[in-house]
Amino acid sequence: MIKLDFHPTGRHFLQIPGPSPVPDRILRAISYPTIDHRGPEFGALGLKVIAGMQKIFKTNDPVIIYPASGTGAWEAALVNTLSPGDHVLMFETGHFAALWNKLATRMGLKTEIVSYQGNDSVLPNAAGWRQGIQANLILERLKQDTTHSIKAVCVVHNETSTGVTSDIAAVRQAIDTAQHPALLLVDTISGLGSADYRHDEWGVDVSISGSQKGLMLPPGISFNAVSPKAIEASKTAKMPRAFWAWDEIIEMNKGGYWPSTSSTNLLYGLSEALDMFEEEGMDNVFARHQRWAAGVRAAVNAWGLPIQCADQSLYSPILTGVITPEGVDADEIRKLIQKRFDLSLGTGLGKLKGRMFRIGHLGDSNDLTLLATLAGVEMGLKLSGVKLAGSGVLSAMDYFSA
Ligand SMILES: *Cc1c(COP(=O)(O)O)cnc(C)c1O
Repeated sequence: MIKLDFHPTGRHFLQIPGPSPVPDRILRAISYPTIDHRGPEFGALGLKVIAGMQKIFKTNDPVIIYPASGTGAWEAALVNTLSPGDHVLMFETGHFAALWNKLATRMGLKTEIVSYQGNDSVLPNAAGWRQGIQANLILERLKQDTTHSIKAVCVVHNETSTGVTSDIAAVRQAIDTAQHPALLLVDTISGLGSADYRHDEWGVDVSISGSQKGLMLPPGISFNAVSPKAIEASKTAKMPRAFWAWDEIIEMNKGGYWPSTSSTNLLYGLSEALDMFEEEGMDNVFARHQRWAAGVRAAVNAWGLPIQCADQSLYSPILTGVITPEGVDADEIRKLIQKRFDLSLGTGLGKLKGRMFRIGHLGDSNDLTLLATLAGVEMGLKLSGVKLAGSGVLSAMDYFSA
């Protein structure tokens, strides 16, 4: 039998890039009593969290909240806007972009992948997984599509498997320059709430997010922000849909209610997270994550290990990927660190398996939790026999105390 009641002393260090550590304030809010999902109190809660999420997405468009993980919201974006066999263009930035492509293929869409054209000396077999979206390749492909067979362009904003954040405004620009009518669908499942995101300004048609990463909540709810053009497309889209259908939800959301039972307690948590964002101010939240990311990178640089993101202008504020030396299994280091120090790091996903690990710097963190995390990583690297150029912890201390 699995022993589920074992807890080491002290707090577990959950430093994966989602689920992120949930602030105590949010956990307490989630423990409020569950209420009648058709009662008056619930309507007020529903209206508050929808309006709050519009501010986080930076939009006036409807925001739909699903009782589902991010994968559900991916599926919802596709089934509401497309018809069976429709042609979609996806840019492969990493494992999550590849998974979204797999999901779209399983749903009967005709997917086409565009990926980075270039070389990489550190990871020759995963060159594109160290880079962001090359919008010029999307532009070229759309220009060739004179019959407008491509119905949607699907991209990932913050690629959680690599720690690379792409320029979404540039993708919009590419679609506009090609004068192509394709919808723009963007996954900001890990970025939203911790990295700047602008649904309206960037002209996104469907923005997709989830609760357990940048929004600091437990897993279980996810989001679609939907433009008027996306709603228009949903009126003629023929993919079968019932649970995910926007129309009934948008109608009932006018009163703060949902057609089926919502995740009431997670909505309490969302309401609390929105209050916290409001109190701190989103620009301060973004700056805090940028600073944490820079401190963690100072450590990785001092160790002399390559950062997964090869483009300095695209470093993720949410997580940092660390490439281990060839012949050293990154997963063995992760397992050792988990066992010895009760610290969880993100694994290398897909073709990065064993070649890198990921340090999450999001959720309920501060300078000292990050320094402790870096100390755990540094000790684990040394115990694994990795030759380090210097102390990352000392560099991060210098950065954080400057
Ligand atoms: C986590 C994640 C997903 C998948 O979301 P789930 O909540 O695990 O279903 C998709 N895309 C990105 C970028 C993610 O970080």
